[in-house]
This record gives sequence, structure tokens and C-alpha cells, in this order.
Amino acid sequence: MSVEDTLLRAVEEIADEAVAFAAEMVRIPTVNPPGEAYDHCARVIGERLSRGGFEVEYLDAEGSPEHTAAHPRVNVVGARAGSGGGALLHLNGHFDVVPAGAGWTVDPFGGDVVDGKLYGRGSCDMKAGIAAAVYAAEAIRRAGVTLPGTIEISGTVDEESGGFAGVAWLAEHGRVAKGRTDYVIIPEPLNVDRICIGHRGVYWFEVIVHGRIAHGSMPFLGVSAIEHMGNVLEAFRNELMPALGARETSMPVVPPGARRATLNVNTIIGGQANETVQSPCVADRCRAVFDRRFLIEEGFEATRDEVVRLLARTAERFPDLRYELNDLMVVHPVEAPRGSALVASLQRNIQSVLGREAPLIASPGTYDQKHFARLAGVEDCVAYGPGILELAHQPDEWCGVEDIVNATKVLALTALDLCRRPRT
Ligand SMILES: [Zn+2]
Repeated sequence: MSVEDTLLRAVEEIADEAVAFAAEMVRIPTVNPPGEAYDHCARVIGERLSRGGFEVEYLDAEGSPEHTAAHPRVNVVGARAGSGGGALLHLNGHFDVVPAGAGWTVDPFGGDVVDGKLYGRGSCDMKAGIAAAVYAAEAIRRAGVTLPGTIEISGTVDEESGGFAGVAWLAEHGRVAKGRTDYVIIPEPLNVDRICIGHRGVYWFEVIVHGRIAHGSMPFLGVSAIEHMGNVLEAFRNELMPALGARETSMPVVPPGARRATLNVNTIIGGQANETVQSPCVADRCRAVFDRRFLIEEGFEATRDEVVRLLARTAERFPDLRYELNDLMVVHPVEAPRGSALVASLQRNIQSVLGREAPLIASPGTYDQKHFARLAGVEDCVAYGPGILELAHQPDEWCGVEDIVNATKVLALTALDLCRRPRT
């Protein structure tokens, strides 16, 4: 029997354990915000890795504002060294999950398996992916295969809120770095037969419009911040949105609507905050937060400039419009090289396990790839994992057991390929 066949058989033998491990993680409610039970989940992953021959470290995100006594940010990294000379493959999954929200018909933290589906918040995004990574490495061990290269597996925090105490912290502390880390795979739920090479950029900004308060019965004596925010929104709608809708990226973003540049008004708050009792006043302040997704072809500077110029033009038309623009968050677009050994290996192994060609896609939203690429400088980073993208963050989230097994097979074969390659 070939080493590949031995490995595939090993995955089948431990498939039940892999699903049980994913379910065990789902039962730990690692809800973010605020970041519950991180330490517990990190230990469960770390103990499983230790039993699989990994050297395990628990890394508290010391120095990051999110790391508090009430909600410690604990990351776990395991490394299983190879016999020497081979490349280092790092498999990373975030174990934080978004709040359950309303509309569930099953226990969001029950971890129940019904009709071949593992249910629960985080089942799809992305505890099944962590289980697939851990059991891909376990299958290699049980098959008795020795690799020249090293496999690292990390479980990290806070991806859902930007990953600053998670992957970004590991990158800033040299735990993942160019020259040390050759390849990274993030088993996010992007469908088990697709490879995700990157994502668009994000520019979050706020516009605060300042008015002048006056009696509501004589609004002409004041300046309404809400009316002027309306003018700003109208300018965005009439001038910015059509321009954005006409721009399309060459990146294979899914769904196709997300191939265009977009703008979303995330929130708008103006006038008196009190929801029940109001006194008659002209609104002297209005704040709106915007979520602009920009294309790799646009770049951040031009994206921001366009907003700056449009606001200035609008203020020229309305002389008493006073505003400020503040940047809240910038995430630059990333795109992994398409012709790499990493992508080729995943494509080959998806074809052999699932019998179909794997399209390359890009994600509409961002994920931790930005930190691997931008902070750690590891270009060869992609996302590939079990679970259906559209089920992430939904009520009754689930991940198919078959997907978990197939992704485990693909990851095991890919680890075999990559860890036999020389260091990059
Ligand atoms: Zn995720």
C-alpha cells in the first residue's frame, strides 16, 4: 500500500475521534465578545496535541489591551519536529466564536451530531477546521510516517474581533515569521473543495457632523447635524456608490457581488440619545460609521483620498456643514501567490480525495491571513477547511461530518507533501 493510502485509511480509522473532538470544543462556549472560556479551550487543544507528540506552549497575549484578568487571551501553539531538513507547515485555527444570537432550534453549545451534521455555534466557523488540522497530524503519527519537516498547529483567540491578541500577537512576537514558517493553512469554512487565496481590504471610518443646538420650535436658529449628515449620505449615494459599483477586482472573490468595491453604513446616531423622553432641540451632533471594502487594485491611499475629497466638496456646497473624519480600522488586501507549491498540493489532494477540481476563491470578508501575510511576512498562506461559508454566524450552524473527514484527508496528504519539501 502506498504511504498516501495508508494515511487515508488512518484518517478513516480516527474519523469518529476527530468529530468527537470538534464536538468537545463546541461545548466550550468561547463567545467573543467578551472572550469567554479561552483558557479552557486552549488547554483542551493543547492536551490533545501533547498526546499526539507535540511540544505545547500556552501564550498569554501579554501587553495587549484585550488580555484582562476577567477574560485572559490564551493562545496555544504545538510543534512536532520532523527528522530534519524539511519545510515547516503551520496550521492555524481561531477558537473564538460569535454570540449564538436568536433563532436556534438546537442547543448552540450542545455539540450534537444529528444525521451526519455536527451542530453548534462554532461548529463550522471553525472548530471543525481545528479538529481537521489536529487529526490530519494525528493520522500521520498513527500511520507511522516520519516527515523531514515540522508540523505546527495553533489555536488562537479573537479572530472575530480582528485577531490582535491572537495571530497578530504571535506574529509580533516572532512565533510565526518569514524564514521560520514556510507554509500556513487556515482551515476556515470556505467549502471543502475550494482554496481561498486572500481577501479584499477594509477601511472603517467615522464621520462626525457638528451642528449648533437651538430650540426645536425655531430650528432656523440652529444648525442640524442630522440634516447635514443627510447631505453627506446623499453625496455618498449619488457620487461615491456609482463609482464603486463600476470597479471590479481581478481577485476571484465569492459571491460575485463582492468582487466590486462596496460601502455599508454600519451605524448612525444623532441628536438626543434618550429613547423615551426628548426635549425639543436641534441636533448638534451626528455620528455615522462606514465600512468600506476596497479592492487590491484600488489600494488604501486612493480609497481614503476619495472619501476626503468628497467630504470637502460636500462641505463647500453647505457652508455651515462642519465635520470630522476619523479612521477606525484599516486592513490591507492580501493575495497569496497562485502558482505556489502550497496551492498546487492542495489542488492535487482535493482532486484525489473529492474527485473534483478545486477553484481558487477569495473571501468577501477578512480573516487572520492578513496577519500572517502582513505582520509575519509569510506569503504562502491560504485558507482551506471544512464547512459551508454561508452557515458561519447563522442560527443552527452546522458542519457536515463528511466534510470534516474529507478535509482531514486533504490536510493530511498536503502535510505529507509540504513537510517533505525543502525549507523555502
Ligand atoms: Zn472564522
